[in-house]
Amino acid sequence: MSDTKRVYRFGSDAGGADITEGASSMNYTLGGKGANLAEMCRIGLPVPGGYTITCQTCMEYSSAGNVWPEGALAEIEEATRDLEARMGKRLGDPQDPLLVSVRSGAPFSMPGMMDTVLNLGLTDASAEGLIAQTGAPHFVWDSYRRFIQMFSDVVMGVDGDLFENALTEKRLVAGVKTDAELSADELHELVGEFKRIFCEHVSGEEHPELIQNGAVAFPQDPSIQLKLAIEAVFGSWMNERACIYRKANGIPDDLGTAVNVQAMAYGNKGETSATGVAFTRNPANGARERYGDFLVNAQGEDVVAGIRNTVPIQKLAEYPALKQAADDLERIFQILENHFHDMCDIEFTIEQGKLWMLQTRVGKRTATAALRIAIEMVEEGLIDKETAVRRIDPAQLDQLLHPQFDTSAKVEVLARGLNASPGAAVGEVVFSSDDAVAAAAEGRPCILVRWETNPDDLKGMVAAEGILTSHGGKTSHAAVIARGMGAPCVCGVEAIHIDAAAKEARVAGTDVVLHEGDIISIDGTQGIVVLGAVPLVSVELTGDLETILTWADEIRLEAGSTHPYHVRVNADNPEDAELALGFGAEAIGLCRTEHMFLGDRKQLIQDFILSDDTRVREDVLARLLAVQTEDFLKMFRVMDNREVVVRLIDPPLHEFLDAPRELEVYLTKREAAGAPEEELAGLRARLRRIDGMAEMNPMLGLRGVRLSFVFPELPLMQVRAVASAAAALIRDEGLVPKPEVMVPLVALASEQVQMRAVCEQVIDEVAGEYGVALDIPVGTMLELPRACITADEIAQDADFFCFGTNDLTQTTFGFSRDDAESKFIPIYLHKKLLDVNPFETIDKGVLELVRMAVEKGRSVKADMHNGVCGEHGGDPASIKALFNVAGVDYVSCSPYRVPIARLAAAQAKLEAEAGAVHLDR
Ligand code: PEP
Ligand code: MG
Repeated sequence: MSDTKRVYRFGSDAGGADITEGASSMNYTLGGKGANLAEMCRIGLPVPGGYTITCQTCMEYSSAGNVWPEGALAEIEEATRDLEARMGKRLGDPQDPLLVSVRSGAPFSMPGMMDTVLNLGLTDASAEGLIAQTGAPHFVWDSYRRFIQMFSDVVMGVDGDLFENALTEKRLVAGVKTDAELSADELHELVGEFKRIFCEHVSGEEHPELIQNGAVAFPQDPSIQLKLAIEAVFGSWMNERACIYRKANGIPDDLGTAVNVQAMAYGNKGETSATGVAFTRNPANGARERYGDFLVNAQGEDVVAGIRNTVPIQKLAEYPALKQAADDLERIFQILENHFHDMCDIEFTIEQGKLWMLQTRVGKRTATAALRIAIEMVEEGLIDKETAVRRIDPAQLDQLLHPQFDTSAKVEVLARGLNASPGAAVGEVVFSSDDAVAAAAEGRPCILVRWETNPDDLKGMVAAEGILTSHGGKTSHAAVIARGMGAPCVCGVEAIHIDAAAKEARVAGTDVVLHEGDIISIDGTQGIVVLGAVPLVSVELTGDLETILTWADEIRLEAGSTHPYHVRVNADNPEDAELALGFGAEAIGLCRTEHMFLGDRKQLIQDFILSDDTRVREDVLARLLAVQTEDFLKMFRVMDNREVVVRLIDPPLHEFLDAPRELEVYLTKREAAGAPEEELAGLRARLRRIDGMAEMNPMLGLRGVRLSFVFPELPLMQVRAVASAAAALIRDEGLVPKPEVMVPLVALASEQVQMRAVCEQVIDEVAGEYGVALDIPVGTMLELPRACITADEIAQDADFFCFGTNDLTQTTFGFSRDDAESKFIPIYLHKKLLDVNPFETIDKGVLELVRMAVEKGRSVKADMHNGVCGEHGGDPASIKALFNVAGVDYVSCSPYRVPIARLAAAQAKLEAEAGAVHLDR
């Protein structure tokens, strides 16, 4: 037997004494649920006795091809016997049986993704024993039929609908509406029917251990039940939905799930019993109020399944039989918040008036709620500002930047439901997850309309713009998952009667029938559904977000800090610049000037490139100079007193030209139409010239600084435009423009030397013309490994460095940035050749080049500025690595990512101060 401890005990025994072998810090061993069950015992909360089998055991079991590690089963057996001794009851005892739940619990919460089995230990004999003990046959047969149903579905993979159909039929025959109204005898009959379904659908070949008297029988030995249930929970770590969820949430595959085996507490023992799910604060908007639902005389899955209509948690104290438990629960809410210093969610059961805690964890919340809770907890003295800033997930801020219904639009509400997850969405109605996936693949935004979602719907929920359900509360599967994903969701829209098979839904109280493909709009902030497309608008950054971002700014830009973390924006027009200032950008880190050559200016640049006539070229340049100067005037006005890094023209010039094949087709058509020879000759010459510019590898070709040596007039015209605009603003408007010129795709120090010389000459000329002093730095954009390796040479003539990590990733890996993400990166990710897409999150090799170049540059010029303006500048994980590992001073990203970058930069700074800097990728 190995020395590894595989089983940790926790919880109260029959006499009320507690045992705790784990703690909340052990979530990689015990999973989140197991670790927090242990922690609740530690702080004296009532938790039914049980034990946790470690995540490592799950990984060993599954990596050995579902073979138990040596000694593990013996240790579990021992823990089971110990639990029996503690509870004073035995599994399967025909007099007074112990029943247990078997629940999954991974290190990171994966709600609803893995399996759970309740009421394990019930057999024909123990059911009778339990009746003898409780005198409650209704409760016992209800529990037994639930167990058979769950065991069959979860452990043996028998289609759950077979049981649901039998249950529905029983209700119809009995003439009752709910399962709870079925009589004890009817439930007993159902047990028989369920066992029959089990025997018919489970294969004896696959499960010889279930064969009794030559045929499959429902297992009457609780130790077989338990072993199979634990194996099923281990297996559920690798089920499809869990794998999709992990991928979507960046959870590693090699953590495994723990299994919690725990004495059952019964919420279905009549009117003095109940079960519920609750949050210590409102997870949708963060309000300081209890939030959640419960059901009297029910078991846990009834609450989340959305089958019965739940009661709001606030009403718990109104039930006299539950009043004491409600008071205890309120006290525990407070204990939990004081202990975890955070909003918690819990699962509880009240068994005959006594409250039992079955789970707690730090609760998932919307971005709106995350901000409000963090701020209020600072006000309450529960946490400090740094903790508040650390606590907000930068990626979650996207939710706040999500569109909402335009309030000026006239909106006619078709139906109302619960505002389960904020944000608005417009799309075609689809009634199945597969249809949602298909619509999204064709680029058609869709809304997934379901009676209620289940974990198998995850792929459809990811694919859809928004989710609408006709059943279920705010803690239902759809609501919880949508909030986590930041997808708008309206649930419990009871007026919508869905016929998924017919792909239509009738809306009660109206004549409307929704068909697949009809456009609807949903608003998950208000909980409304509208027929047709409502215009959407983005929210302004005010209030709570602004408070947190102001705290973030104080941290990342702390006065006196030797290394403040700055955030700039990539913007190439005044509108984006203005928007970004509103979002808190400090400067423009990248103005891609080629975007200024689009629209009606494209013709000018084409004429320049394609003409041999010097006069035509000079004329074009003069016109381009005028329009570009105008562009820069507007930009520098908006960005007065703030740096604007203007990158000289960068892309291969063919990007501005007609596609040669299209031109060829046009030429052929004109020839066939008998166009004049002069026109045809012009077209042929143009085609020859365009063909002559074609390159096999344009991204490695005539682009970036190389253009400046082949077409020197173009970049110099740009430098003149920059300098003229700055000079005019200084002289005529008294402003303080701060342009900086950046030379792209430099590989050689000599390129920088020559470019700088000509740029400075133009700047001096313009300064002289306007009679003002111009101080315009000329820096280098590092996008090639050679530039990084020789950065000390380049730095001699560069006023600043800025890393184009998009190209640097392309050129370091030799992965085409235009093709790799669609052609093979998904396969690389799937096969785990790569952990992350390096175009999204900075790769460690690329990061090392940046780090090295920063160091080399600073060895030459100690106070040189270093920035990053590739897409990585807006990715939270990259931002942390770029500041803390590579040592850059600023990141620059698109306007909408500026708030995310401000927060991520502050978190990076806090991590650096705590010395927790590492990049293990
Ligand atoms: C880069 O390469 O990272 C960059 C910012 O430039 P562009 O994306 O325009 O090539
Ligand atoms: Mg680039």
